Amino acid sequence: MRYVDDAPAAVLAAAKDMLRRGLVEGTAGNISARQEDGSIVITPSSVDYADMALDDLVVIDLDGEPISAKEGRSPSSEKLLHLACYKAFDDIGSVIHSHPVHATMFAVAHRGIPACIDEFSIYVGGDVRCTAYGASGTADVGAEAVKALEGRGAALLANHGMVAVGPKPSTVLHITALVERSAHIVWGAESLGGPRPLPDEVNQGFAGIYGFLRQNPM
Ligand code: 13P
Ligand code: ZN
Repeated sequence: MRYVDDAPAAVLAAAKDMLRRGLVEGTAGNISARQEDGSIVITPSSVDYADMALDDLVVIDLDGEPISAKEGRSPSSEKLLHLACYKAFDDIGSVIHSHPVHATMFAVAHRGIPACIDEFSIYVGGDVRCTAYGASGTADVGAEAVKALEGRGAALLANHGMVAVGPKPSTVLHITALVERSAHIVWGAESLGGPRPLPDEVNQGFAGIYGFLRQNPM
């Protein structure tokens, strides 16, 4: 089971960075990390990242029951999405749900993002799939996300945004930013005649590196 050292500090730093990078607006999105005892540190629901402090973070168990929470703080409304990812993938230590503009354009169109930029698959594993629709905050979102995340570091949530997984919050935020940047580039390439695919064997090689790095994170 993968876990994150000093998970609260890593979650808070990534939350502030996610806002700074424009990957969410206001209180949208959520971040979590797994601790050594198997519990999950997760951002609170509806608290502005700019004001968020360490004691605002909530600790929950794998059933979503609170282990510790400050008065007035409840776990993210997407806790079922995060928990579904940890239950399905033992090799991840962090989950980030975000609403970046270009990736969400693809999610709204129910379109995946093709792995057509060199080295993209090293970080993400291949094409980013889009889930079937599940209403925000329901177990459906988690069930659909787990299917779309098979062998991948990110998936689009239909009509909603993105979810990304990996060893620790800073790495998962990097994946989130890379997928968003790629969505922007692919969207632009559509107006230039459409993206041309990379050779299959190139993407297969990169996907192999992704699989190795997922088991042996740096
Ligand atoms: P929370 O503030 O409850 O984490 O919800 C944000 C969000 O993005 C819901 O999909
Ligand atoms: Zn959301």
